[in-house]
Amino acid sequence: MKIITAIISFLTSTFSIFNILTLPYNETDDNSNEPYESISIEEMNTEDIQPVQTPASTDWWEYPEDIKECERDGGDLLVLVNKEYKLPSSYAPADLVKVGEDVIRRGNNYYLRSIVINDLTDLTSDAEDDGIDLSIVSAYRSYSTQATTYQYWVNYNNGCVSCADRISARAGHSQHQLGTTLDFSSNEINDRLGSEFSNTKASQWLEENAYKYGFVIGFPQGYESITGYSYESWHYRYIGRKNALEMKNSGMILEEYLKSKN
Ligand SMILES: [Zn+2]
Repeated sequence: MKIITAIISFLTSTFSIFNILTLPYNETDDNSNEPYESISIEEMNTEDIQPVQTPASTDWWEYPEDIKECERDGGDLLVLVNKEYKLPSSYAPADLVKVGEDVIRRGNNYYLRSIVINDLTDLTSDAEDDGIDLSIVSAYRSYSTQATTYQYWVNYNNGCVSCADRISARAGHSQHQLGTTLDFSSNEINDRLGSEFSNTKASQWLEENAYKYGFVIGFPQGYESITGYSYESWHYRYIGRKNALEMKNSGMILEEYLKSKN
């Protein structure tokens, strides 16, 4: 009986980690005049909030004590940004543009670097031809927005920093500050952001095709101990077509590929 209770308790704690990922970021197109998303905490039902349990895993990639500045410039498509290497707080891309209505059905008020737009347009257009609907639910986030986002997750987890660290980057450590990273959703899940995206046709299409347009998944499934983050089926970073193809052919995930280049 004790074993059964232990199993149930383990499953509950495991699922609560993933459930949390389906909740936040309730922004709409109306409020995205700012070059980043805002989080509407008011819209959350506090009764739904469960503290996240920390699984007894020892191979998780935590923030090291010695945090370094990124070796490549923030504007470099291959800059390694992770829990060890951070961007300067002053870094913001110089060529941010609104995604634009002709690029995607929803999320066209988000900002990305201009060099991303042509390939993103090709991606969404070819996806549409294949009957796949895509939307954007987050893109560029400034250093200060990331600070707010991270603090939100710490508060959400009742002050548990290690819980927040598995699902949100600290300011300076987010690929979203690069302006080349975006979070996808789809009308299949009513444009929500979260783990349910992994069950969509859109997610499957991206897994098979995104690299052809220069986009690669940041935190793939089964590599948590390398990336330091839970699987994020929705989070893609643009590294250019040539690099993405090289990465694909190498069999490396993004984290490993960037490490080989930095
Ligand atoms: Zn993301």
